Amino acid sequence: MSDYTIVLHGGAGTILKEDMTPALEQAYCDGLQQALDLGYAVLEQGGTAVNAVKAALVILEDNVLFNAGRGAVFTKKGVQEMDAAIMDGSDLSAGAVAGVRNVRNPIELATEVMRNSNHVFLSGKGANDFAIKQGVKLEPDEYFFSQFRYDQWKAIRDSDTYSLDHTNHHLEELMRDKKFGTVGAVACDSKGNLAAATSTGGMTNKKYGRIGDSPVIGAGTYANNATCAISCTGHGEMFIRSVAAYDVSCLMEYKGLSLQEAMDTVVNRKLMALHGEGGMIGVDAKGNAAMVLNSAGMYRGMKNSKGVTEVSIYK
Ligand code: ASP
Repeated sequence: MSDYTIVLHGGAGTILKEDMTPALEQAYCDGLQQALDLGYAVLEQGGTAVNAVKAALVILEDNVLFNAGRGAVFTKKGVQEMDAAIMDGSDLSAGAVAGVRNVRNPIELATEVMRNSNHVFLSGKGANDFAIKQGVKLEPDEYFFSQFRYDQWKAIRDSDTYSLDHTNHHLEELMRDKKFGTVGAVACDSKGNLAAATSTGGMTNKKYGRIGDSPVIGAGTYANNATCAISCTGHGEMFIRSVAAYDVSCLMEYKGLSLQEAMDTVVNRKLMALHGEGGMIGVDAKGNAAMVLNSAGMYRGMKNSKGVTEVSIYK
């Protein structure tokens, strides 16, 4: 039996203490703690890493504070299109969905793809059809409405119509102001099996069916018992270009780096070189956990069988 651990994130970005109220801070911490406790309980009862990360993510998806499931951000068209992925490090099986609508828990749908389809990655209407076939719970549009997400979107929804010269620079300025959402979990169970899961509404005002790193296996989500389980959050385009989660695994496998060293290299060196803002959480097969960010904050927490439990927000 090995030490078991669960690690969570609830998004990274320009999360500053001066923008927060004590009540909001408490609400985020409570949300993370609740998901940690639930995921940890699965591990404590001898459950698998996959079931632990899924259970934790369902709680976070149901919490309107986080940009996933119920709290998903608005697209350019004013709807929610969600992405999610889950990966089992014991056999490298994986399931992912992108651009799904009205699915209450996209992580449940990704798990269905992993377990009950011959595929890894489903998108859009096809993924929604599969949700219906598998009996995955759907919700009406109203369920996904929250005033603060709506206001966030309203503030920038017209932004690129103003900007005739819509350069990357301008886009980056917009991104810099925003707090990334997304929820993720990684776990090591008592048998030393690893799993990773990530779920997101993506980026506010996204268009053209944009898909971020979260559901892309190897970019935002990756798990392999031989190395680590990783879930990322941040400016997805850079995480895809960096193949960020898999790069951590490669640095461990081919270069012999520790989890912490590999994550530091990817987040603080490689992603920084691309101006890729964000962070990631990781766990290795010994139950070691790491949480690394290059942004001002990342909602995060961990709990393990050695009795360590912590939740934090700022860098
Ligand atoms: N990485 C996510 C995306 O680009 C956003 C986030 O982490 O908040 O879709």
